[in-house]
Amino acid sequence: MPLDTELEVALRVVAVAAKICQSVQSRITRESIEKKDRSPVTIADFASQAAICKLLGDAFPNDEIVGEEEADALKSPDNQRHMADLRAELARVAIDASDDDVCRWIDRGTGNGASGRFWTLDPIDGTKGFLRGEQYAVSLALIINGRIELGVLGCPNLPCSDAWDRESGVLMSAVRGEGTRLRPLSNITVPPQAVRTSPTSRADMARVCESVESGHSAQDVSVQIAQKLGITAPPVRMDSQAKYATVARGESDIYLRLPTRADYREKIWDHAGGVICVEEAGGTVTDVDGLPLDFSQGRELRKNRGVIVTNGQLHPAVLAAVKSVLG
Ligand code: AMP
Ligand code: MG
Repeated sequence: MPLDTELEVALRVVAVAAKICQSVQSRITRESIEKKDRSPVTIADFASQAAICKLLGDAFPNDEIVGEEEADALKSPDNQRHMADLRAELARVAIDASDDDVCRWIDRGTGNGASGRFWTLDPIDGTKGFLRGEQYAVSLALIINGRIELGVLGCPNLPCSDAWDRESGVLMSAVRGEGTRLRPLSNITVPPQAVRTSPTSRADMARVCESVESGHSAQDVSVQIAQKLGITAPPVRMDSQAKYATVARGESDIYLRLPTRADYREKIWDHAGGVICVEEAGGTVTDVDGLPLDFSQGRELRKNRGVIVTNGQLHPAVLAAVKSVLG
């Protein structure tokens, strides 16, 4: 199968990064939450990007990587003190590194998406959820000539299927034309399950999800859209691309990401992994104007505003409601 090797590598590296994040999240204390201490997210974020860029670079040395982080931020006086902890996290997943190695690997991820084939990576999507002990995701996708061809989402705190251990977290993957699959994060070698979006066409019964953070999606506007659709149930609020995973496996029917500012452009790593998982599961993803997301514009979705995700069936009705509210 085409992209078999890429899929095998992507599953493995996302599982490794998820392990790092789980290790760091398990040590977050009530005290660090109260102090609003961002150290855990700094350590896990940089260690996750370093590990994925190192392992991806070993497997595909010529591939560009467009990641969220860059080593300059780690070299700042405020962050440098985290280097020892960060290296300890890498050692736990059998990656031994010098400080220089860590910075070099992180900076493999500073691509701008100009080449015909590149990976895009969010080493921890949903950092606020990570710090609260809630949902977050590791998201990796392969883009070839502007089209997402493969995506993997690791969602350590999303309950897995009853077929395996529900506690294990979710590893979801999709390859263009081959559907979306689910594996437990704790055992990525088991035969995966195929997942599909929900079949519902009853807009009034639809289960909606959106960001926890009102700064990331206009929650007041989503109330009006839900009203237009006749939806009475409140939206489920969840951080990260775990929202895409819930639509892909039919647990929710609609994910709304409504612009809060006219000038904000969505980042490609916040969406690519999730978009292909939903599309290959039968769903539809566009921006608020109904345009397909254009991943050929560098690090941002420069030609789009907002994101609308549905099970597929509901897309026309949801877009009509969005249009009637946003104009
Ligand atoms: P979520 O967890 O779905 O709320 O999304 C988290 C992501 O929101 C982060 O990775 C940020 O890149 C992104 N983000 C930051 N500011 C904004 C904004 N004003 N609008 C939309 N997304 C944003
Ligand atoms: Mg993100």
